Amino acid sequence: MPGEPQADCLFCKIVGGEVPATIVRETDTTLAFRDINPQAPTHVLVIPRVHHPDAASLAAAEPAVAADVLREAAEVAKDDKLDSFRIVFNTGSGAGQTVFHAHAHVLGGRGMQWPPG
Ligand code: 5GP
Repeated sequence: MPGEPQADCLFCKIVGGEVPATIVRETDTTLAFRDINPQAPTHVLVIPRVHHPDAASLAAAEPAVAADVLREAAEVAKDDKLDSFRIVFNTGSGAGQTVFHAHAHVLGGRGMQWPPG
C-alpha cells in the first residue's frame, strides 16, 4: 500500500527507530537528520514519515505532506543560520537517487556551483 512502511527501506527503519540517526527536527509528519556522508557543512535529509519512493510520488499522493517536507527543509536552513542554501530532491537513479524513500537534501555552508553535476 502506498504510504505504508516498507520492511526493506532504510529511511522507514530510521522513522521506526531501528536504525540510528542524528535527528535535528521532528514533526508529526516529517523527520530531519544529518546525512551520514555530508557533502557540505550543513547536509540534512528531510523525509516524510510515510513511505513514498520519491518526491514526485509523494507530491502526487500526499501534497500536504510534501509541503511539510519543504517547510521543514526551510526550517533546517534557518536553524543552521544559512543565508543561502540548496534544497535537492534527487528523483530516479539517473539523477543520483540511491534511497527510494522520498527525501529532501538541505545543503549549505559553502559556495556552490551551477549547473550541478
Ligand atoms: P540520494 O542519493 O537517494 O539522493 O540520497 C540518499 C542519502 O542518504 C545520501 O546522501 C546518503 O549519504 C544518505 N544515507 C545513506 N545511508 C544513510 C544512513 O544510514 N544514515 C544517514 N543519516 N544517511 C544515509
